[in-house]
Amino acid sequence: MIELTDRDREMFKRQIDIPGFGEEAQRKLKNSSALITRVGGLGGPVSLLLAMAGVGKIVILHSGRLTWSNLNRQILMRHDHVGKPRIECATELFERLHPECKVVAAAEDANEENAKEWVSQVDVVCDCPPSFEERYALNKACVELRKPMIEAAMYGMEGTLTTIVPGETPCLACLVPEKPPWWETYGFPVLGAVSAALGCLAAVEAIKVLTGFGEMLKGKMLSYDANAMDFYKFPVERRADCPVCGSL
Ligand SMILES: [Zn+2]
Repeated sequence: MIELTDRDREMFKRQIDIPGFGEEAQRKLKNSSALITRVGGLGGPVSLLLAMAGVGKIVILHSGRLTWSNLNRQILMRHDHVGKPRIECATELFERLHPECKVVAAAEDANEENAKEWVSQVDVVCDCPPSFEERYALNKACVELRKPMIEAAMYGMEGTLTTIVPGETPCLACLVPEKPPWWETYGFPVLGAVSAALGCLAAVEAIKVLTGFGEMLKGKMLSYDANAMDFYKFPVERRADCPVCGSL
């Protein structure tokens, strides 16, 4: 266990002072790791907030280059990054903003072949890609390796969030057994402030998973409609016949 330094105590004082958080939770964050798949409108805020909170290592995956159409929601990217690999933009920013956070970055997306290898390297997974293929691959790897996964998704002005603990809560395949017919991999509408808000909430859940602090969204789905600013929380259940987690 790596101990906190005096500078850590100073830098993170305002969160260490949260009742019930303390140095123990901060030490856990320093010794923990998180995988964030895609660092776009959702995973960008998640990865930034986890590094900012003192998580020791983040692993970030994202293929492709930055386009102008990404910029309404990319807090890790700048105009002069357009045309460059997105993972390089993100890594460069982390080196400047949070040099003490170890960043492992790869210009690839999660899939059936690589998901298990990436998931095995971390304590928690934050599921932030736009495609269901990636999400299903990560879900399967998390169930097989018994790793918790923060499941966050948005569309337009709406967002949903739940925390998956394999064997204890529903997995993604319990909640969404088949890819929705309306789903398009790319090009769905979203407001940057809505995806960033969801990213903030997902980061809070990841911090709770890593520290044991607070009450996790286990077996519960948070859903919000930013048009009306309505927030709902409702129970979700496992499916006994789930092909992914049913045997756990
Ligand atoms: Zn399941």
